[in-house]
Amino acid sequence: MKEMESLTNRRAPAAMSSETFKKLGHALVDQIAAFYDSLPARAVTTGEPPREIRTHLPDTGLPEHGMGADALLAETTKVLFDHSLHIGHPRFFGYITSPSMPVGVLGDFLAAAVNPNLGGWALSPVGSEIERQTIRWIAELVGYPPDCGGLMVSGGNVANLLGFFAARKARAPWDIRGSGLRGDARQLTVYASEETHTWIEKASDLAGLGTDAVRLIHIDEHQRMDPDALERRIVKDESENRLPFLAVATAGTVSTGAIDPLPEIAAICKKHGLWFHVDGAYGAPAAALPDAPEAMKGLAEADSVAIDPHKWLYSPLEAGCTLVRNPEHLHDAFSFRPKYYHFEEEAEDPRINFYEYGIQNSRGFRALKVWLGLRQVGREGYARMMQDDILLAKHLFDLADKDPELQAFTQGLSITTFRFVPEGLKPGTQAVESYLNELNERLLTQLQSGGETFLSNAVLDERFLLRACIVNFRTSLIDVEALADIVVDRGRRLDAELRPPGLSS
Ligand SMILES: *Cc1c(COP(=O)(O)O)cnc(C)c1O
Repeated sequence: MKEMESLTNRRAPAAMSSETFKKLGHALVDQIAAFYDSLPARAVTTGEPPREIRTHLPDTGLPEHGMGADALLAETTKVLFDHSLHIGHPRFFGYITSPSMPVGVLGDFLAAAVNPNLGGWALSPVGSEIERQTIRWIAELVGYPPDCGGLMVSGGNVANLLGFFAARKARAPWDIRGSGLRGDARQLTVYASEETHTWIEKASDLAGLGTDAVRLIHIDEHQRMDPDALERRIVKDESENRLPFLAVATAGTVSTGAIDPLPEIAAICKKHGLWFHVDGAYGAPAAALPDAPEAMKGLAEADSVAIDPHKWLYSPLEAGCTLVRNPEHLHDAFSFRPKYYHFEEEAEDPRINFYEYGIQNSRGFRALKVWLGLRQVGREGYARMMQDDILLAKHLFDLADKDPELQAFTQGLSITTFRFVPEGLKPGTQAVESYLNELNERLLTQLQSGGETFLSNAVLDERFLLRACIVNFRTSLIDVEALADIVVDRGRRLDAELRPPGLSS
């Protein structure tokens, strides 16, 4: 048959010759290296609105025919370098999102090339063992029992969600996976501080409990959960025939880097039979520091922990990790064994099939970039980088504290909050506070699109604050000092435009 002849020497459109691959690959690596070198001189962002960004993409429908990969990559590289918001820029201080370490970038390239499927051991013998070791090393890094179980996931939201589901299965006194919430009339109830990340609402909703199941516990003046308030609420709920099953402590809150008192919360969980989960998406790696914050100590007692290597371990997005003290708990919460899988069972030397420990079936090789990072810099390297980030955050706090036009608020882990207060205005009265909120909000909007630096915000006691989070191995003292100068300079100009006549003190 004529059609069959071409299949003898098949030329698939997706295929690429070894020569071309080398040429394009080398060129791309050269361009990325130059991009890294150029980062400090680039704007953090161009601040272009969506409509303008779209003008850099092809103005066509789905391509009917393909194009040369050469031109395609050249064009795409340029658009990405010139129009992205650069999280890897030394003056990017927004949210909690870090530059990717170059070895992780190369690791992702390698992972994509080998492309093992980490759903089943049979499809990823080396990959599965690397993931197993990565989980163990992360546990060792944060002082968690290394014989724990765990899973690499997309990020903190999913890492926390897995802890939530493990808790739900382990603590519901009926077969919740079989009969769902119909198995018992009592409302399963979960506890977390008011400063908890919104994953908690998503998890409770997805688990079918509804967001009403979430009790947000009061925080103290340092944004930490008040353990007495937690216990009172649990006791009250028990007396009202609710079923408290899970308490979440945050080790490094998103707004201010506060660490809930883990040992106290662990003790309350033990006393009342609750699962104890720690959201350490951002802060857990700080447990590796020789002078780790005291409040962090209870982390080792958690039933489950969420950690984001794509934050303070500098892995490229996406990399989250769930640790579970007893590996069976994750398995119990997620395992189904379909007929169409034939996986060998070997009690002596078990083959771990990670699809049974979480939501995903086919799974990418996320562990590789994390594993490479851990090997390249080691515990000592990570500790040093975190310490430097924390020192820089402290320095920023001191700068803001000393500067008459800045007001420092908090510094926790590597997050500092502060605001601009123009000369001649004394905070405190309602009129001044409300103007300061407006001024700082407008200032933030301007800074976020200006390209000189990038900050985000926190709201504390109804005050709108600027917030710098330093999870950035490229940031130096010069960048932090420049940040303070930029805020004051742009703040002054904005104040000159905005201040209502008569507002002074
Ligand atoms: C970042 C963060 C999350 C969410 O993690 P993603 O990786 O963005 O999904 C949850 N909790 C805390 C404390 C975080 O810092």
